[in-house]
Amino acid sequence: MIPGVQIEPYDKLLFMPVGRRYGNIRSIGHKEERAVLSRLQQAVHRALPQFSYRELQDIKEFLNADCWRMPVPVTREEELYPQLVRPEMFLWQEHSGQRGLPIDESYFYGKIYSRLSAEGLHYHVSYVLKDYAFCAKLHRMKREYWLDQIYDAYSRHPFIQLAKEKNHIVEAVERMNRSSLLGVLKFPEDIAYWRHRVEIVMRPYRDVPDAWRWEMCTHEKELTVNGEALVCTCPVCEYAVTYHVEEERIELREEPIMERTVKRIATIERQLNEIGAQSMNVVETLRDVQTLKWKLDAFSGRLERLVEMKAELEVEAPEIVGCYEQLKAVRMPDERVEPVLMSLSEVVLPDTKVLKAVRDWQTLEVSDALLDELMLEWTALLEANQPKPDDVLVEVEGFQVTRAEAEQVEAFLDETELTLSLHLLAQMLMGEPTNKVRTLRLHETAVFGMLSEWPEKYAVRAVKKLFKEKI
Ligand SMILES: [Zn+2]
Repeated sequence: MIPGVQIEPYDKLLFMPVGRRYGNIRSIGHKEERAVLSRLQQAVHRALPQFSYRELQDIKEFLNADCWRMPVPVTREEELYPQLVRPEMFLWQEHSGQRGLPIDESYFYGKIYSRLSAEGLHYHVSYVLKDYAFCAKLHRMKREYWLDQIYDAYSRHPFIQLAKEKNHIVEAVERMNRSSLLGVLKFPEDIAYWRHRVEIVMRPYRDVPDAWRWEMCTHEKELTVNGEALVCTCPVCEYAVTYHVEEERIELREEPIMERTVKRIATIERQLNEIGAQSMNVVETLRDVQTLKWKLDAFSGRLERLVEMKAELEVEAPEIVGCYEQLKAVRMPDERVEPVLMSLSEVVLPDTKVLKAVRDWQTLEVSDALLDELMLEWTALLEANQPKPDDVLVEVEGFQVTRAEAEQVEAFLDETELTLSLHLLAQMLMGEPTNKVRTLRLHETAVFGMLSEWPEKYAVRAVKKLFKEKI
């Protein structure tokens, strides 16, 4: 229901209250306003012949009016609102007859129509009416219908289809562009040129957000009218496309020239293939790395365990373990490396030094027996390194504190609520029954006298070294 009022003699205007909780217009205009309205009515009359019967019918239905009219907003004070209402105000939405139209700037045109010249007003009114005719046509179908149309047209867009079809190449180019291999392939000037081209060729692909590849995202959309087109915006993705209703066609934000774009994606792949072909020495080395990786895969269980043990032991390891560790970080295609984009882009080489090292690594010996032997040796080493109660934690001039003793003192420190100075702790461990020790009943603890053989200055030094952090 649209809250329109007709007032004689303006048979082509439909007066509409704007502002909340206001739905009545009884009369309109003093002399000055009546002159403005006459000009407006004339401008509407003049614009009419541009529209077909069908369009006028649509507008009539759109505004729910008895005959064809143009909306004119009127304020609560029964004065003309300075700007005309945009048709989006009525598109796929209802307004209460009791309340008047909301004053929302986006629903009004920017021009103050009473200030326009006769020609200016004619032009403005024609423009406004075209918008009404367009929105009236849209309004024949539901919002969801148009969203479906846009969704379909998006998938049909030649660039989106191309991008979908060539997605594997697009992704390979992006991977290759970040690859450390570019630092070793030939020749630097060809690589520089290729990367420069990538920036140009990838621009339209990169402009499409992830959620729009290669169908429209599923977030809630905003639909706005722009001339004869609908703009479909996703506020979440901050991306918008324009739908040209007449042509049933989507226009992208970065609308590429298709013929050129098709060529470019083929060229960028071919150029990298050429770079691969002139870098056969690198490709051969990559194959060596790959072969070695395959070879070591057979021993991966043992080698994994050895890498862990090496970290625990912090020992010098045989080269085969270090080699495995470095190759682990390397990713290779499943098939043999070929000098082409699709293959080279699968190579992940965190450190290209591997390419130099592989020559030596190839001669390394590896066998179950060898690895088992190393594992036995390291297991024994690990066991020997296990903490034991009689490990000496501190030694001062021949006097020793063992792990077991230190743990006993630590347990006491964890339990007691007293705050002890290092000196008092030393006195207690030496078993000196001073007044303070007695007052605090420290002579009754299990660790009292633990270091009774120790000279005082050594005991203080040991206590400082072992328990400073604890106190
Ligand atoms: Zn989105």
